[in-house]
Amino acid sequence: MSTSNETSDDMVEARGPGELVIILDRSVCIGAADCVALAPVGFSLDVAGKVRFVNPVAETDARIWAAARRCPTDAILLEDRSGKALYP
Ligand code: SF4
Repeated sequence: MSTSNETSDDMVEARGPGELVIILDRSVCIGAADCVALAPVGFSLDVAGKVRFVNPVAETDARIWAAARRCPTDAILLEDRSGKALYP
């Protein structure tokens, strides 16, 4: 996918809206799908039931933040473009 950068099997990174950079820690994702319900443009589940990117740069800032905050395992990490941690 052109919007994501595979850094390992478990950690994937992509640009989000505005200044957001989104990192998914798939190793701790339990497939609860709260993020998919809250931000369906940005996220979906793969065949293994783990979070994956869809089109995160087209998702809204508010919906990305809501998904990160709702994730029960903090599998969605947010940074700004300089690499500063914003969440959690
Ligand atoms: S809310 Fe968290 S645990 Fe649930 S599918 Fe999304 S990333 Fe995975």
